[in-house]
Amino acid sequence: MPKIQEILSGAAAIAKGMGVTITEMMNPVITDDYPDAPPRFEERYRGLHVLQRDENGLEKCVACFLCSAACPTQCIYIEAADNTARERISGGERYAKVYNIDYSRCIFCGYCVEACPKDAIGMTTTYNQVASKRSDFIFDKARLLRNNDEYMAKNGLTTSGKAPDGSYPFSPDGCGPDITHGMGSYRVSQRLYEMSQETPARQGKAAAK
Ligand code: SF4
Ligand code: SF4
Repeated sequence: MPKIQEILSGAAAIAKGMGVTITEMMNPVITDDYPDAPPRFEERYRGLHVLQRDENGLEKCVACFLCSAACPTQCIYIEAADNTARERISGGERYAKVYNIDYSRCIFCGYCVEACPKDAIGMTTTYNQVASKRSDFIFDKARLLRNNDEYMAKNGLTTSGKAPDGSYPFSPDGCGPDITHGMGSYRVSQRLYEMSQETPARQGKAAAK
């Protein structure tokens, strides 16, 4: 008798498993077609960094070292220098003479972005970073600024994020499209506002049920 029970419970388990398999076979495939099609990103996907410019084209980074202090893998290396009357690089007292990110150590946590008081460093949805040498994973300041300039140009904006009509379509402080910023940023504030609007609507729906 116990043997028959074992056989029946085994058959029931197989039937249950097959039920799940058949159901999943009927569902639409949700995997991405990458690399044949570009992958989809979540709104706050954190890809390669950019160093941004202000409305005068100056570097936003003032070499305060907060990003480097916040970085858990210590992959940001900065050397500061003073702006002079003859040569002004940033809008602050100092600028980053050297600014390197070592992508062989970066874990894309975004802490550097959160820590920056100037919205100088941001993260884009650029994800392709392939290299055969470790040294190629070190992005210097010129490369990070170029990332910004190319990213803005791709979106029809000036290097500071300004549209041809003089407006800043993605952010009042010149942040670019799809660039993730710290908690004071436009995208996050906008999302928090949207969520505050959604909550009463959701509560209303729940109460109506
Ligand atoms: S994303 Fe994280 S690990 Fe990468 S540089 Fe910024 S703080 Fe460091
Ligand atoms: S990127 Fe921001 S946090 Fe880092 S040194 Fe420059 S201004 Fe400071």
